[in-house]
Amino acid sequence: MKILLPTSTAGSLPKPTWLAEPEKLWSPWKLEGDALLEAKQDALLISLQDQLHAGIDIVSDGEQTRQHFVTTFIEHLNGVDFEKRETVRIRNRYDASVPTVVSAVERQKPVFVEDAKFLRKHTDKPIKWALPGPMTMIDTLYDAHYKSREKLAWEFAKILNQEALELEAAGVDIIQFDEPAFNVFFDEVNDWGVAALERAIEGLKCETAVHICYGYGIKANTDWKKTLGSEWRQYEEAFPKLQKSNIDIVSLECQNSHVPMDLIELIRGKKVMVGAIDVATNAIETADEVAATLRKALQFVDADKLYPSTNCGMAPLSRQVARGKLKALSAGAAIVRQELI
Ligand SMILES: [Zn+2]
Repeated sequence: MKILLPTSTAGSLPKPTWLAEPEKLWSPWKLEGDALLEAKQDALLISLQDQLHAGIDIVSDGEQTRQHFVTTFIEHLNGVDFEKRETVRIRNRYDASVPTVVSAVERQKPVFVEDAKFLRKHTDKPIKWALPGPMTMIDTLYDAHYKSREKLAWEFAKILNQEALELEAAGVDIIQFDEPAFNVFFDEVNDWGVAALERAIEGLKCETAVHICYGYGIKANTDWKKTLGSEWRQYEEAFPKLQKSNIDIVSLECQNSHVPMDLIELIRGKKVMVGAIDVATNAIETADEVAATLRKALQFVDADKLYPSTNCGMAPLSRQVARGKLKALSAGAAIVRQELI
């Protein structure tokens, strides 16, 4: 990235009301068939326009074509039965009815590659594409086939790698893996989680990122955060291993969070997407608040490696609030950029 402090979002942006019910996570589609396909593309273009208008430097599809950051990907694979459901505990936090892995998982066709080509056709800006991470994928399923979290994660890593290579060929500049599970299953992260992630990026020449966060601003997550005490040190567990990994960029949440900023020191040498926008509140940050967070991060990450971003996706927010937050991110980054020249 040639420009200093290039801005981006962690992932999702709100969908238009005609596509899905607003301000709701995992809201069902309002259309079907060809009308839905066309509407998703229209929404993707609006989302792109919102990012360009706000001056975001690394743009994305705003995840307009997916209902859920994990299950939409899994729905496209063989081996998972969505009719056969079991209740499991997601990230040790809340119970959910999830689909069952009934046979070998495989990807018969690309999942997001056409969407990525569509986005590529409509912008010259660098684009970032988010995929679920292997550990977060296994955590949303009941496994009646492999009976091993590690084995299933490894199979998903191979599938993600196939998808990632095709996304790269479609012109994606940064491929990001969403691994909120890295903030929960520390032993597994170090035993095989980072290795599975590295399997997913094997052979890629484009930049790669891992997004680790404390989740959307939904109740299960905000309740969990209340139990974490005054300092959130979860990143401490995965960062040493990630620092030694082949991943180029680590995306973490910093705005209004209790994450001690000096934990970033543990990934010295990596590029860092610093979350400077809180996604769990409707209050729109001022440019100065964003700038203050970025300045704090600059103590622990070199300026040419700092990528201002959002804490997490903004899908559950209103479009008006999300637009305001995108603008605040740009304006805050501009202030600090001025100070650095
Ligand atoms: Zn997130």
